[in-house]
Amino acid sequence: MYEALFRHALFPAYETVVKRRGTASHVAEYERSQWLDRAQLEAVQLRKLNELLAHCWAEVPFLQRHWRAHGLQPGTLSHASELSRYPLLTKAMITANYDEAIATSWRGRTLTKTTGGSTGEPFRFEYTMDVYARRTAVMWRGYGWGGASLGTRTGYLWGTGMRKGGWGGFKDRLYHGAFNRRFFDAFSLSDGNIDPVIEELTAYRPQAVVGYVAPVVLVARRMLATGRRMQGVRGVLTGAEALYEPERRDIEQAFGCPAFNTYGSREVMLMASECSHHSGLHVNADHLVLETVGHDGRPVPAGASGDVAITDLHNFGMPMVRYLNGDRATYATQACACGRGLPLLASVDGRVLDSIETPDGRHVPGEFFVYAMLDWPDVRQWQVVQTERDCVQFRLVVPEPWTAQRREALTAKVRDKAGPAMRVEIVEVDEIPTTASGKRRLTIALAAAAPRA
Ligand SMILES: [Zn+2]
Repeated sequence: MYEALFRHALFPAYETVVKRRGTASHVAEYERSQWLDRAQLEAVQLRKLNELLAHCWAEVPFLQRHWRAHGLQPGTLSHASELSRYPLLTKAMITANYDEAIATSWRGRTLTKTTGGSTGEPFRFEYTMDVYARRTAVMWRGYGWGGASLGTRTGYLWGTGMRKGGWGGFKDRLYHGAFNRRFFDAFSLSDGNIDPVIEELTAYRPQAVVGYVAPVVLVARRMLATGRRMQGVRGVLTGAEALYEPERRDIEQAFGCPAFNTYGSREVMLMASECSHHSGLHVNADHLVLETVGHDGRPVPAGASGDVAITDLHNFGMPMVRYLNGDRATYATQACACGRGLPLLASVDGRVLDSIETPDGRHVPGEFFVYAMLDWPDVRQWQVVQTERDCVQFRLVVPEPWTAQRREALTAKVRDKAGPAMRVEIVEVDEIPTTASGKRRLTIALAAAAPRA
């Protein structure tokens, strides 16, 4: 009842009247376009792509230079696959040409966001309010496949979302209350508080649960160990990491419903998510282009793992065309039986985030460190390694040596979540190696670094 009221009346009114955003009409557009067949979707993608490229040729000095240097001239593509003629774009290129990477007609009107970098390379970029509205709309579509539609009573095992106390806290409670969702701090789970958190979550009676893989698995396994089960949940949505079969099984058993994995990032929000057929993650191809490419920049065939290159079709403020986000993924070789024309990813391969277990029984998910590093966007690369039970070592690639003040601030931040007994070492290094398989391990737990006796 509330769900229907929220979806059809409250949310459109809030977005359209209060926020003056087109989110509600974007929701309707994406709801329709998911059912287009492959050829119709490719036509939509091609039209949007040609509009974006024309805009870049007219208004983005850095891209014009970059593309001309690769022998390209303005012109329209006749098929979306011709996008692979354009050169790839790295974080370093955008950072080095920041002002000229912003479209001339959008200068001074864009919003800025920083990412701690799912790959350990912090990054700053610009986007527009319109693309934000579209990203929100496409996110609700993907969440809806997993049973967490707009207005569904949803418990979030997430890191951020609520301010504590004061006017900000009151506004957040009101805002999230209207959305019918509640946040449970996934960064503060410990052996000491996991049972009360499970009780609170159960008492909230969510119809859907959304969370990072590690805390959701932790909660599910604790429920299984203590014989608890949750009733009335339609779907559990996980994100930010790969979801392996044993973890999926435990989540589904504990929550009594299917688990749905999603793939998103701070740069473009939700890129792909599972439908009820669980045959892979449907890419939001009516909203962005997701290519998997080899070292030569050419797309790799379905079934092979490649670097993810993203083209957000609607960010006209700072257009990113074939942007390498640092992840790796593999396209599926088969289509989904659900009938959606949106192509399928078989897997997201590139991210590895271990949870850190502290001596006093806290479980700090790897995502905490990703968020913690948001405060220092000038750090070029980072990695956290738990070298002993009570010690985490930050390895940083920095443009200039870190001051005592910064070291203290980072240490305080980590101890706030990992406990006062956790030692924090900060070392500056020249580079952070990737593993033999090309993965970048951002957080490495003690158990993973060396087996415990
Ligand atoms: Zn499907």
